[in-house]
Amino acid sequence: MADSAPPTGLGARLKFALRPKKSRSRLAKKPPPDHMSLHSEASRPQTAKSLHYHDGSMRAAPDIIDKSTGERTDITALMHGLQDNSESGEQAYYIEHDNHRSPGEPLVASLPSDLWARIAAHLQLADAASLAFTTKLLFQRIGPGPWENLRLEENRQRRAEFLARLDYSMPDHLLCFPCAKFHLRIQPGQETLKPPTVLNPLFECPNAQNPLLPPSRIRLTSTRNLPFTFVQLVMRAHRYGPRYGIPCDELFRRWKDPDSGWSHQTRYHVVKGHLLLRVVSQTFATAGLPPSGQRTLLFSRQDYSPYFSVCAHWKDGELTNLCKCALNHLPKPQTGSGPEQQFQRRIDTVRKASAPLTALRAASQCPECRSIRRCPECPTEYLVELKLAEDKSDRAQMFKQAISVTRWSDLGDGTTPATAEWAACRGDNEAYDSFEAIGRRAISGTFESQTGDFIPGQRVRSLNPKNQKKGEEGHNWY
Ligand SMILES: [Zn+2]
Ligand SMILES: [Zn+2]
Ligand SMILES: [Zn+2]
Repeated sequence: MADSAPPTGLGARLKFALRPKKSRSRLAKKPPPDHMSLHSEASRPQTAKSLHYHDGSMRAAPDIIDKSTGERTDITALMHGLQDNSESGEQAYYIEHDNHRSPGEPLVASLPSDLWARIAAHLQLADAASLAFTTKLLFQRIGPGPWENLRLEENRQRRAEFLARLDYSMPDHLLCFPCAKFHLRIQPGQETLKPPTVLNPLFECPNAQNPLLPPSRIRLTSTRNLPFTFVQLVMRAHRYGPRYGIPCDELFRRWKDPDSGWSHQTRYHVVKGHLLLRVVSQTFATAGLPPSGQRTLLFSRQDYSPYFSVCAHWKDGELTNLCKCALNHLPKPQTGSGPEQQFQRRIDTVRKASAPLTALRAASQCPECRSIRRCPECPTEYLVELKLAEDKSDRAQMFKQAISVTRWSDLGDGTTPATAEWAACRGDNEAYDSFEAIGRRAISGTFESQTGDFIPGQRVRSLNPKNQKKGEEGHNWY
């Protein structure tokens, strides 16, 4: 939250006033050039009074006019009243989770109970329950009402939202969203992502077999998925420490679908508090396939979904057409000195130079099918490529042409399955607009810059430029 624009809504103002004081650590870290002499002072624990005296910006920013009452509110004074003066910026996080701290009790006590009740009535249920949870005094003022409401079955999602905020205090448990309860982890630190055909409980859950309350997951391919519990484990470990979950690279997998011949590789990175996913799916492709052959290559016979990894919106837009377009660029086999032979000579040249053969493109693609595309409805990007791939089972022709589909997705911060990005990837967040939410920095670029392998410098185009949403009804996809 920017100090220069203090919030004016009631709930937001309360949150602003009750938050841990970041302003002080920032003062210590970034002193203005003409206040250099204050730096050494700022690095020592300061009193509220000394802060007021030294920093002009501290005084100027927080004075705001309440839009509804026209009253000038000095948020600085309120904040100083609520903060323990001995804290440092680095401790702010722990202080936020320390329930024994007694900040500004007299100030809270100075407001009558019915006023606190009215304040709580304006808040979302999880926010009101959180406010009542902050101190004994606030609990007395607000009462057990919000907590009792959280118990109700219709408020299960709100209860999960409230409990998710207590994640830090539950390292040995994991929040189960179908139950909206914390369950004890039965294999703490040893949790392993397994194929869906393998029974792999992370905790004992009464709803484990309940078809009406399935745990949240996203489809990776037709035979694999990623349960939300693993996103929780990785993000908890990243946020609070190894005791809370598992490291990100424990999720990396490589597998081959024996039925389709497609091979897949998943990787993950945590960037700016979000878990990013990349799935590279690849299969050998023959040139000159008729439309029916292309469909057999791309789609599962069982559910007519693609063998490669897709988001929930793949039927709208151009994804499968881009794959077919790429397949049409494969040079057809000919005798004599045709493209196939020229292609083999290029392989031989690269082999002699001991360059990585995978770096050689199998065939050139048109601007339509070689662009990075972003799904407009979720934070997912795709790239279709023609590559050379090694076939270890074929000694006569070890390097073959292959089609590869790379998918990058932002899976959100892993706090709840209702997180905008996770819900959008599953197709549960219709309000999500990926071009507005992500902006110009591509997910693919952000992901690849973590390893420095390959940074796509191109402009990201829409996967569904006409924004037609026909889903199953559209005939374009098959
Ligand atoms: Zn459960
Ligand atoms: Zn093309
Ligand atoms: Zn999508």
